Order: sequence, then C-alpha cells, then structure tokens
Amino acid sequence: MEEETHGSMANNPFEIAQHQIDIVAKRLKVDPGIIEIIKQPKRVLEVAVPIRMDNGQLRVFRGYRVQHNDARGPFKGGIRYGPGVNMDEVKALATWMSMKTAVMDIPYGGGKGGIICNPKEMSSAELERLTRRFTAEISSIIGPLKDIPAPDVNTNPQTMAWIMDTYSATMGIAEPAVVTGKPISLGGSLGRNEATSRGVVICAREAAKVTGAKLQGATVAVTGYGNVGYNSAWLAQELRMRVVACSDSQGAIYNPDGLDARKVGDFKARTGTVKGYPGSKEIPIDKVVELDVDFLFPCALENEITSTNVESVNAKIIIEGANGPTTPEADEVLYRNGTFLVPDILANAGGVTVSYFEWLQNLRREYWTEQEVNVKLEARMVKAFHEVYDIAKKENVHMRTAAFMLAVGRIASVMETRGLFP
Ligand code: NDP
Repeated sequence: MEEETHGSMANNPFEIAQHQIDIVAKRLKVDPGIIEIIKQPKRVLEVAVPIRMDNGQLRVFRGYRVQHNDARGPFKGGIRYGPGVNMDEVKALATWMSMKTAVMDIPYGGGKGGIICNPKEMSSAELERLTRRFTAEISSIIGPLKDIPAPDVNTNPQTMAWIMDTYSATMGIAEPAVVTGKPISLGGSLGRNEATSRGVVICAREAAKVTGAKLQGATVAVTGYGNVGYNSAWLAQELRMRVVACSDSQGAIYNPDGLDARKVGDFKARTGTVKGYPGSKEIPIDKVVELDVDFLFPCALENEITSTNVESVNAKIIIEGANGPTTPEADEVLYRNGTFLVPDILANAGGVTVSYFEWLQNLRREYWTEQEVNVKLEARMVKAFHEVYDIAKKENVHMRTAAFMLAVGRIASVMETRGLFP
C-alpha cells in the first residue's frame, strides 16, 4: 500500500485541513487554481460581542463566523463556545463542513462559528445575551438561503432558539430555517438530537461488516460524553456492543464488564461529570484512547490521537464522532498498523444530514415522523460509507483520503461547471 508520508506538522487544525486537501489534490485531475480556492475560506468575519454581565460589568467577547465554500449550496455549520476557540480552529471546522456536506452529497457548502468564552462560568441569562448579540453582529451574512448555523460544542437547542428568535425579530419574519438543531416546538426535527450518533453507530456497523469484525459483545471506549459521545454510547449498547470506558473534561471511567451508558448519562446530568460513577474505576483522561478495545469513538475535541500517543492506540476500529481528533501523522501510523478508521467527515455527518432534513421541513412547512427521519438518515449514511469505502479499495488509500477525494472531487466539479465570476 502506498500513501503519502508527512513530516512533522504542528497540530494546527487549519493547517491539517489544508494538508488533507493537498494530499488528494495530487490524486485528482483538478485545476490547481481550484484547489487553491478550496484551501481558503471564502469569507471570514470576526466580531466584538459586548454584553452586560449579571453583576453589571460590561464585557467584550470575541466571536467568529467563517464561510468556507458555497459552491454546492448555502454555508452550513455549527457554532462552538469555549475558552479554546480560535480563528484557525473555526477555519478548520468550516473546511471540514464543506467536505462533509460534499461526502454526503447534500446541497450545502461549509461554514462554522465560535465565541471565545467559558460557558461553564456564565449564567443562562448571560449566555442568552451573548448569543443574541453575536447573532445581531453576524445577521447580515447568515440566513436560510445563505448560511445556516447549528449546535456544536457547548451550544444546544436553546442556543439555536435564541438565534432563531433574534434573527426573526431583526428581519420582521418568523424564520425557523435560519438555524437547525432547534427545539422541536420551534420547528426542530425529530431525531436531530441523536442524529450524529446514529451516524457514528451506523458507521461502526458498516465498518464491522467490511472488516469482518463482530459487533455483538465488541468493546467500545468513548471520549467526550456530550451530545455525540453519550448518544453514541447508548446507541452502541442497543447493538449489543459493550461500552467499557468513557470520559469528559473532568475525568474518565473504566469497567471491563461494561458500563450502563444511559445510567452514566443520568449520573453526569446530576453531578456534572462521569467521574465517580459507581462501580467504575477512575483512569487518566488521556488513557481512554489507549485502551485495548475493539472500537474507539473519539467524541470530544481535536488532536486526541497524535504522533505522541498513536503507537499506544490499541483499538482495531476507530469511528471519529468528533471533528479532527486524529492528526495526519497519527493517521499514517494507524493505517500502517492496520487500524480501520472512519474519518470525521463521514462518521459524524449524520448531524448535518438531519440538519438538512430539518431545513427541508422548515422550508416546506412540514413535519416528518422520527421514523421517516431515521430511515432517510440510514439510507444516506450507508450510501456514503460504501462510496468512500469503494474509493479506498480502488485507489488503495485509507478511508480519510478516500473521503477527501470524493468531497474535493465533487466541490471542484461544481466549481468548474459554474465557472469564475466575472
Ligand atoms: P458537547 O459540548 O455536547 O460535548 C463535548 C464533550 O467533550 C463534553 O462531554 C466535554 O466534557 C468533553 N470534553 C471536552 N474536553 C475534553 C477532554 N479533554 N477529554 C475528554 N472529554 C472532553 O459537544 P458535542 O458532543 O456536540 O461535540 C463533540 C464533538 O463532535 C466535537 O468535535 C464536535 O465538533 C463534533 N460534532 C458534533 C456534532 C453535533 O451534532 N453536536 C455534529 C458533528 C460533529 P464536559 O462535559 O466535562 O464539558
């Protein structure tokens, strides 16, 4: 097998995203100029977000909205809150969104947003003011046919409700289609909350099929126990997989006999962390990716598997619930070691797929049943998985390279057909 090797690369997510495009550019017959366009976001907006804190103090936060590519449709992507948010992270996440919507062949481009803040230290009223002021600052560039935000790390359906309401109030219309991941009562889609994780678990099942691995009784370790990690854990359990470890920002737990994923979720909802869950052993957070398990679902943040720890990763199959959890150097080592990895731009695309369904329902003023949503999601995930897998086999490349080949090829083809304005 032949795959590009890489020198050492800093773990800057945007450099990584650009590098991933470079790798496939060499394999695709695409005008290098088009590749240059795809490597850069089309528009970047940085805003100051001043709000009054509960104690009367005025504070100014920094927010970003990056619009990466809209050749195939409106920009689409989540909004992340956190102390570690930065422009390069948002640019990378926006780039991966363009790739993801192209892999899934849904008529969107890619975008992403973020605010540097510590949501855990802010009250709900402060978060509401922050969200509303941020929405006002970016309202000229978002819209149902322009750029449609969604939840990401530390944002949720309530955050989307505030965005929808602020946008609607500013525009003088009720516009649910401006965001997805909304509460059901505001036009959110049934099935959206678990959609990313359903996609993760569908990828695990398909990966088991193509590798001949057994699903029933297979052990799983999950990093991150938020929307994606928690829902992936209990959905994996529904397939009779055994979740033996999980983590959050405060700690990690392990039980080789299996954890009850839903009970761990209830415990975390009560206490704020998985740490201390009865009947589990506490292990260091960074050891979860090194456990000797059949499946690893990294569902936290970027750079979980890097050149530093990759040789200690024992999982046979990795399904990337998070965006960017594996660096390119680590990718190569995993591939050499025979690990089957389903990359983020495929593995966690269930979320944006059901966001697309939500948007369609809003635009058509329809409500679909949860079963309808799940059946459509299943069909799209399975189709995309096998399209990527077929390329991986035919081109003798790993699944990430195959997924990027499919995505960059689709975006470039549309850009070539549309031509260059003026
Ligand atoms: P959440 O905020 O719901 O959950 C994130 C989880 O990661 C939290 O449990 C958090 O811990 C945990 N975490 C943070 N830092 C660490 C760490 N160092 N070690 C272990 N766990 C950590 O976010 P989501 O579940 O929505 O997003 C998770 C990932 O999935 C992100 O990469 C996101 O971009 C990606 N994603 C999300 C989609 C979605 O639909 N939500 C769609 C596609 C991708 P704590 O609970 O203590 O804060």
